[in-house]
Amino acid sequence: MTFSDLGLSAPLLRAIDESGYTTPTPIQLKAIPAVLAGRDVLAAAQTGTGKTASFALPLLQRLDSGVRVKSNQIRALVLTPTRELAVQVGQSVASYGKHLSLKSSVIHGGVKINPQMMKLRGGMDVLVATPGRLLDLFAQNAVKFSQVEILVLDEADRMLDLGFSGEIRQILALLPKTRQNLLFSATLGGDIRKLSDGLLNRPLQIEVSPRNSAAKSVKQWVYEVDKGKKAALLSHLVRNRGWEQVLVFTRTKHGADGLVQALIHDGISAAAIHGGKSQGVRSRVLADFKANKIRVLVATDIAARGIDISELPQVINFELPKVPEDYIHRIGRTGRAGSAGEGISLVSAAEVKLLAAIETLIRQTLVREVENGFIPAHTVPLTRELRVRPKKPKKPKQQQEKKTGRKTDPEEQGGNPKPRRGGTLQDGGRRQKATASRTKPSREAGAGSAKKRLSSKPKGDAAPKSSPRRPR
Ligand code: AMP
Repeated sequence: MTFSDLGLSAPLLRAIDESGYTTPTPIQLKAIPAVLAGRDVLAAAQTGTGKTASFALPLLQRLDSGVRVKSNQIRALVLTPTRELAVQVGQSVASYGKHLSLKSSVIHGGVKINPQMMKLRGGMDVLVATPGRLLDLFAQNAVKFSQVEILVLDEADRMLDLGFSGEIRQILALLPKTRQNLLFSATLGGDIRKLSDGLLNRPLQIEVSPRNSAAKSVKQWVYEVDKGKKAALLSHLVRNRGWEQVLVFTRTKHGADGLVQALIHDGISAAAIHGGKSQGVRSRVLADFKANKIRVLVATDIAARGIDISELPQVINFELPKVPEDYIHRIGRTGRAGSAGEGISLVSAAEVKLLAAIETLIRQTLVREVENGFIPAHTVPLTRELRVRPKKPKKPKQQQEKKTGRKTDPEEQGGNPKPRRGGTLQDGGRRQKATASRTKPSREAGAGSAKKRLSSKPKGDAAPKSSPRRPR
């Protein structure tokens, strides 16, 4: 199936061709004909699936055949949670619509409002906006909504997470009752369902990848490490694995700034992007990162929304997110549009509950690794134990141990380990088979680049029958 089979007009097909797209992605295959036909859409799609084009292309085509926009009016409104995503979507709309004579613009906070008011005077066919600034402009009579034909809520789950539900409801109340509504969200949780129930009219539901699962093309694993050693481990990995363009997530602005200083101290070019930086700095840092002038970009979740860098090879969770869904958003930054990527989390013992919550959400036990020289003094407990309430053993402990797979585990006996799931780590043959005991830190700094985890169970415990070290 090609783009021309989807019913798109010649000017749009030309723009698609110039973007270098040859085949529609699964969400584009489903959404484009439905939006062209005027249907409402509810789509569960992560970033990287091509979701922007899936709404922008048909939206432009519909607007192209309609009436002229009046002053201060808009015909299609795209709401996004962050400035970065607004800019990103705005660029896509402008690029796909470059052979049409429609006007589009982006508005967001953090910059002067006057130039935005001036731009809106003549009306806008497509306006991409963050909710707060849009309401500010409305309050100043700079924007009117009576001509709105199409509403898009992009990354709606994130808008709710960021506390925009009040603003969204205010905006919805201002729009004409008859309009087309398109709602895109990485996850379809309860709040999104509630929002969509009151908003969408018999929508086409699209789910392009299993709900709450991270992109399949992303290899994911965990490095167990003590909290105080994380920065040193990151520098070590960046240098030794030859990572050239790494996106690292921290939980706080302060943490992001501290990590940047540590990386620069280690001779690695790095910069931070977070809500505490001005829009100008954020845009410049992002441009430098895209141009490979900065090797490591450290970001908080909010600032990183909308970052689109194709084929970003590594995404690192320096700290696990408090909200498990953010793990999916973060990992969505790599392996985009089908290219392979690596999602790596540096996890300390104190984060085990967060790890368990993420594994529950993605329905997958993440493979664990320990790097030579960084074996943690504080073991990260097994997440399985957090999920399963331990039962009273039926048999005495000694017999129980005989029944477990512990003695027959080839790794622990020095035999050939089974291939690690998702484990095509890039160090290939350099990776050593684990031999060091976790209780003997004096062997930590031995030759080789990494060790497979031996056991995270406290000493003396019987191993579980099905070891989480080899997730299925
Ligand atoms: P999105 O999910 O909208 O953030 O898009 C992710 C990336 O995929 C962007 O860099 C798009 O330019 C790119 N993209 C979108 N559609 C296609 C396509 N059909 N073929 C190749 N790349 C695409």
